[in-house]
Amino acid sequence: MKLPKAAEALVILVDYIVAAKGASTSTFAARVRHDVKCDAYNREKARAFCFTRAGSWTIHCSKNIERVSDEVLIGLLLHEMGHIAIQAFHSDKNDTCEVDVDRWVAKNFPEAGYHYKNHSYRTARGKDLTAKSIEHVSKRFAKTILGA
Ligand SMILES: [Zn+2]
Repeated sequence: MKLPKAAEALVILVDYIVAAKGASTSTFAARVRHDVKCDAYNREKARAFCFTRAGSWTIHCSKNIERVSDEVLIGLLLHEMGHIAIQAFHSDKNDTCEVDVDRWVAKNFPEAGYHYKNHSYRTARGKDLTAKSIEHVSKRFAKTILGA
């Protein structure tokens, strides 16, 4: 399954990260991919949309990432880019990786207005769900990235 909205948002976000922050051009290797495992996680937890793994540029996504607002979409992608950028992943030895990633985003993208709040969305199957405390960027930053 293709994820056109998330894929396009990631391309533009990566352009922005490289141009505005002087990140390595290898960042362009980042990609989103639909993963049925994410759909399963997402059915259990309304706020589970994506994951990343050590040593890979792939952001594995639930199909429902296509159903969230622009602010949440960019917030999620920026967060996942943080996991990749600082290679911080869940393990028995690393239980602070989420804090480390959020610190990376806040430090490097103060203009993004990165924050957490609840978000309601309608799934591809027409079910209304609320993702509690999910990554957001400001409306203005989402507009800067997506030009909407
Ligand atoms: Zn995370």
